[in-house]
Amino acid sequence: MRILLLSDIHANLEALDASLAAAPSFDTIVNLGDIVGYGASPNEVANRSRELGKVFVRGNHDKAATGLMDLDDFNPMAAAAAIWTRDTLTPENLQWLRELPHGPVSLPDFPDIQLVHGSPNDEDEYVVSLGDALAPLITLTMPLTFFGHTHLQGGFFANGSSADGFRPEYRTVGQAESVPLHLKTNARYLINPGSVGQPRDGDWRAAFAVYDSEANVVHFYRTPYNLKAAQDRIFGAKLPPRLATRLAAGR
Ligand code: ZN
Repeated sequence: MRILLLSDIHANLEALDASLAAAPSFDTIVNLGDIVGYGASPNEVANRSRELGKVFVRGNHDKAATGLMDLDDFNPMAAAAAIWTRDTLTPENLQWLRELPHGPVSLPDFPDIQLVHGSPNDEDEYVVSLGDALAPLITLTMPLTFFGHTHLQGGFFANGSSADGFRPEYRTVGQAESVPLHLKTNARYLINPGSVGQPRDGDWRAAFAVYDSEANVVHFYRTPYNLKAAQDRIFGAKLPPRLATRLAAGR
């Protein structure tokens, strides 16, 4: 089975479309949350996600945009985007987003896999460093956890008494590329497919991953997308302009 892993689409329709076009064939699709927030196509992305997806985990921006979380922890730019998103979503999409499940979520037919937005212990926690990853890696009984939230493609593993982080290394800054990670059978992994619509690792390309369960390989992908169209929608919606300009830097 090949599982397409999407996370942190953030209402970026152009990045989602490019990712779907660049993805190899897959059997099922998993969405790790933050479907909306920041970008200017929340209904289009929610509709597309609902058509495609079977398994979802909610993200903090999904909660913020649907009133499940107050905006005190959001910076002014993120809060402005959450309020705009709330006002723009259709009642059906608002309801659908509000009912997305809290992680960890299990994947039918895959007892070794769990899905979270932040960390296995706290849906809103950021797993950025190896230090952040150690506690969940030590306590995990599940070999494979897919997470999002940080918008940083890559992850962490623990094998016996050793633990480390990894990032896929790409050769270009503008082309479609893929990097495989062969998983070891005795190790435990926390793996982030990266952010489709709001990358923050200095690479502007849309990020996603495909897990091939037979080969036990995660393929990380980056693909260019129509950046200008995504930016123009943000300017047109009168969202904070930096939400558009920062897409070009992947920050
Ligand atoms: Zn996010």
